[in-house]
Formats: sequence, structure tokens, C-alpha cells
Amino acid sequence: MVGNAPELVIVSHRNPDGDAIGSSLGLSSFLKKKFHKVTVIYPSEYPRIFEYLDGIYEVLIYDLKPVEVKKAIENAEGIFCLDFNGLDRVDKMGEFIQFSNAKKFLIDHHLDPEPFTDYEFIDTNASSTSELVYLWIKALNQQDKMDVKIGEALFTGIITDTGSFKYNTRPETFVVASELKQLGVNDYHLQDLIFNCLLSKHLRLLGHCLANRMEILEESGIGIIYLSRKDYIDFDIQRGDTEGIVNHMLYVKNIQIAAFVTEQPTIIKLSLRSKGDISVQEVATKYFNGGGHKNAAGGGVYASLQDVLNKLKKVLPLYIHKSTH
Ligand code: 5GP
Ligand code: MN
Repeated sequence: MVGNAPELVIVSHRNPDGDAIGSSLGLSSFLKKKFHKVTVIYPSEYPRIFEYLDGIYEVLIYDLKPVEVKKAIENAEGIFCLDFNGLDRVDKMGEFIQFSNAKKFLIDHHLDPEPFTDYEFIDTNASSTSELVYLWIKALNQQDKMDVKIGEALFTGIITDTGSFKYNTRPETFVVASELKQLGVNDYHLQDLIFNCLLSKHLRLLGHCLANRMEILEESGIGIIYLSRKDYIDFDIQRGDTEGIVNHMLYVKNIQIAAFVTEQPTIIKLSLRSKGDISVQEVATKYFNGGGHKNAAGGGVYASLQDVLNKLKKVLPLYIHKSTH
């Protein structure tokens, strides 16, 4: 304990994205101002582009320091779970959280939450968990503890989960963004840091995907890109290098569902995107052991790449028809 304040742990999901990282670091900076000792933990490493965020170097990574992570969770009196809603999203740490006696608190915006926490601040209409962290701080009447560093972290999560305010927005999203900007957040600079950071190999990989690995089924309104294990070697693809590729298919007129499929060492991973009322969350949950949001979901299966591609071509058209009737 630091003074009377309990030790806290903040956990977010495997392969943390801008929202997982922004919401957890923003909340951590806020709670530290309330004199808590706070440890932020992710199951796997974070993309280097987010290194500009305050506190990121103190984050514990389970894959790198499993013993320390286990101890931190065991010692915690409170555990905040951010930007995920099922314990399978945090790998082995799920067990530690499940069997911990700490009070558990979920802040999240994904569909279909599992009941594993004592308290919840959930809104599936929120743009991002970062938006919810800000609204929670506001609900506690603690805005005076906000500062520009917390603002940058939360703004980062909002930018990344809305694709720069293109989707998942609601009126509150813009109110929160406005209030964060009023705090002094430089959104132009954040957009530059987040999006203008590719290496030439990323553009070459994108070119390869679009030229050689993309199938557009015009009549069905479906686009699919896949990458084989050999592509991973040929293009030296590392974690995070394929981020955003799936979205390019939605630039094609009338494409309503986009699937990006990758052959990993043991499983096939999928990223799904959709427009409007089509729920790829349902597709991911029903067929690919996954979940997510209505218009952005993902999953993973033990199968061959070809089997997954065949299954997608069979299953996805059903969802296109569903939306037009
Ligand atoms: P992405 O396609 O960017 O990896 O993920 C899009 C959304 O789908 C995210 O909100 C993420 O939480 C969810 N998602 C991705 N992969 C999985 C998965 O394997 N399981 C579940 N439950 N959700 C996933
Ligand atoms: Mn999120």
C-alpha cells in the first residue's frame, strides 16, 4: 500500500491496440494522482508507435516477465480490466484474475461481456474504452485530476478505435474529444505520430496484399485478403505489421464485408470488418472462436488456410443477404 490507498493492477488484452494502451495508461496516470500504486500489465508486447505515451516503459508484459506479473496480480487489492470482456483475451493471466480475491472492475465497450468482475462500467455504444475512462473520471467528479498526459493517452484510444473519427462515433465521443483538446491535447501531432510512421516494407507488404492476395467478390460485396506462412518469411512480417490492411477492401464501392486472414505458426487468425447493420461480431463468435464489435471483429481457428478461406466464402454471403432483406 501507498498510504491508505490499495495497490491496483490494470490489465488489458493480448496484442494491445491504441485503445487498450491509451485507456490503461490514462487510467493509470489518473489513479496514481489518487496516491495508488498502479501496475499496468499486458499479456503480450505493445506496438512501438505508442512509445510517446507517458508511463509506457513501466508496463509489465506477461510474455517477458511471467513471474513478476503473477506476483503483481496476487498482491493487488483491486484489478481493473480494460478493453476486453472475456478472460480468454488475456491468456494465462485469466486464471490469476479469476482466482484472485481482489475487487475486480471492468471498463469496456465490447459486445456480450462475460461475468467475471464485481463492478462494471460498460457501454457498447461508446467509441472506445478510452472514452469510457474519461466519462468515468467525470462521473466521479474528478476532472480536476485530468492533465494533458492523461488526455493524450485517452485521445490516442479514441483516434485509433474510431479510425480518426470515421466510425463508432456518437455525440459524446466529440464532446470528450473537445474537452480533451481543451486540456491542451495536440490532436494533429497525435495523428501524425500514429499514422505517419510506416516503414517502406509496410507499403511493399500492402502492395503485395492488394496485387497478389486479394479477392474481391463484386456481386457478393465481399473482399478477402490472405497471407501465408511463406509471405510472413518473404516480407519479414512482425507483430503489428499487418495492422489496417483489412480496411483497404472497404474502399471498394459496394464492398460490405472485408476479411483478412493470416496463417500463424499454429492457428489461422482472422480480422473482419463490415458496414452498417451487418454484424461480423456474430460471424466471428459463431464460426471462428472470436468476438469484438458489430463492424470490427476477429477470431482464430485451428484449421488450414484453405479451409478457412472456403468457409468464409460459404458463410459471409449469408450475412450479406440477411442485411438486404
Ligand atoms: P482486429 O481485427 O483489429 O485484430 O480486431 C478487431 C476487434 O475484434 C477488436 O475489438 C478485438 O477485440 C476483436 N478481436 C480480434 N481478435 C479476436 C479474438 O481472437 N477473440 C475475440 N473475442 N475478439 C477478437
Ligand atoms: Mn477498444
